[in-house]
Amino acid sequence: MITIDGSHGEGGGQILRLSVALSAVTHEPIRVTNIRHNRPNPGLKPQHVMAINSVAEICHAHVEGNKVGSLAITFYPGDIKGGTYSFDIGTAGSLTLVLQACILPSLFADQKVDITITGGTDVKWAPPWDYFHHVFLSHLQHMNVNIQAHLIRRGYYPRGGGKATVVIDPLDTFNPLNPKDTRNVQVRGIVNMANLPSHIGERIKKSAVETLSKHQIPTYIDIILEQSSSVGAGIALWTRNGNILGADCLGEKGVSAEKVGSLAASRLLSEIQSGATCDIYAVDQMLPYLALPSKGFFLCREISRHASTEMWLLNMFLKKDFLVQQSGFLKKVTVVDSRDETMPSA
Ligand code: ATP
Repeated sequence: MITIDGSHGEGGGQILRLSVALSAVTHEPIRVTNIRHNRPNPGLKPQHVMAINSVAEICHAHVEGNKVGSLAITFYPGDIKGGTYSFDIGTAGSLTLVLQACILPSLFADQKVDITITGGTDVKWAPPWDYFHHVFLSHLQHMNVNIQAHLIRRGYYPRGGGKATVVIDPLDTFNPLNPKDTRNVQVRGIVNMANLPSHIGERIKKSAVETLSKHQIPTYIDIILEQSSSVGAGIALWTRNGNILGADCLGEKGVSAEKVGSLAASRLLSEIQSGATCDIYAVDQMLPYLALPSKGFFLCREISRHASTEMWLLNMFLKKDFLVQQSGFLKKVTVVDSRDETMPSA
């Protein structure tokens, strides 16, 4: 059994989700203590309970301590089984984060895993649906991972109630995560909004397009008027042709529509201009997929605390080390087997 100190590094929900996913993949029982120790409200929240339950259902695990407020869990994984699963977070907790936890083990199921999930689709501190769909899943698609994702309904804070389906095919073999040609970059995007006047969406779009156009980047953005039980708006942008880079911004009371659009656009611009091959959010989300095949590399602007915490965690399960080398203004991240004496050269 591996014991994981949930207060290590970032000390949030990510350690927990990745721990159960890796436990399922490696068939190694785990105990996670000090759960979300570094958050103002430590312990499990409903979306973490659901993430653990979802992975447990998919891999037929026996779990102890998985209830709201709990500071420790024990997880005994079983066999990863394909089939149809339905999960309801019951709050506006992020459904994309629960899906991230489920996708990794589902790749190793005996047959397709078909998940329907209800919760928040576009909520704070989590990948919005369009980022998940067009950035995270696109990275995976380039790695030969076949996942069909379909959004049924948006779910914003406070009511949630968003719904999506994701069908994950069993993995054949991973292609390495490698940089792509960076010529002729275009930007695509989606502005989503519900229960707000239509000029809000137009203004978000206009300011994003204007910000990127100043740098001669062709930008195509759709506005989608959603049916949802809460008020909400947001924008996600991603690159086409070349490396997959994304950025997003949620609409908020007190923040102008123009600011929402220009923030997302300038975040993406910083990524494009830097020459990174993974944006700062994708770095922590893609680390498990760099570590598992141990082939390929990515370039990024910074290693966040989320990312360095994951490197520590992945090393515990997979005995792989991450090599972070400075490459101009960027960091080049590769993986080596920590049991291997020979280290690759720069
Ligand atoms: P906690 O409630 O303990 O803060 P959590 O369960 O919300 O934890 P974190 O540990 O903070 O989760 O992890 C959040 C995840 O969401 C990270 O993978 C991060 O990359 C991703 N993320 C956060 N904000 C965005 C964003 N705006 N766009 C894309 N991804 C995001």
